[in-house]
This record gives sequence, C-alpha cells and structure tokens, in this order.
Amino acid sequence: MSQVAPALVETLLKTLGNAYAPYSHHPVASVMETPDGQQFVGANVEVAHYKGLCAEASAISAMATAGQRELAKVYVMGPGEHLCTPCGDCRQRIREFATPDTQILVLSREGEVLKTYTMETLLPDAFGPEQLPQR
Ligand SMILES: [Zn+2]
Repeated sequence: MSQVAPALVETLLKTLGNAYAPYSHHPVASVMETPDGQQFVGANVEVAHYKGLCAEASAISAMATAGQRELAKVYVMGPGEHLCTPCGDCRQRIREFATPDTQILVLSREGEVLKTYTMETLLPDAFGPEQLPQR
C-alpha cells in the first residue's frame, strides 16, 4: 500500500485528535487540497441532536470560505484500519468542487492509503452544477 507525505499524516492525526465525536466515538479527519497545493483541514463535529458536521463537510467549508473552488485531492482518515469512506452527503459535497482528475484517498490511521477513488468511482453519474440552468 502506498503512503502519503509524513507531514500530511501528522496533520490528519492532529485533526483527528481535535474531532468532537462524543456520541459516535468515531473521529474522522479530512484534508481538502486545491490545485495550487493549499490544504484545508476538517474534523467531524457532533451535536446532541445528532445532526453534526462530517469532517469532509467541515474541510470543504473552510476551503470555500477561503475562496477556493476546486479540489485536486481529498484525504479522509478514520479512527482505525477500516475503510472510512465519505458518506453520501459528503460525496455530493465533494462532487460540487471536484473535476474528473480529483483523487479521493482513504487512509488508515497509520497513514496507509487503503483506497483511491475518482469522482466517477465515488459517485457515478452524479448530479452536479452543470445539470442546472446556467445564468
Ligand atoms: Zn459525511
């Protein structure tokens, strides 16, 4: 299995440690990387009524808030060895800023790349901005 840069693993682990997951006990960290190499981190943030925010949504929010609109790479790290893939809602959020070249990498807690997806394999035939009337 391939590895990513040690600094990125460090960032993901630090972000994982900041996850607020008192209900699921399932911390998740994500990094959204733009084509110019900027990275935006996000952790899941749960709330008592169970409508919390996923790590990917959190990171995408930070990216969009900074004015960035394109994803080159998406990294997701869960709490263990299992494949912690983006949920359906997050797949659609990633789709909003993805290109056909965007890579979505799911990592183990040790930083091993468990699986790499393209947008088409993560969310085939997805509904996207181009299906809406252009103004
Ligand atoms: Zn999600």
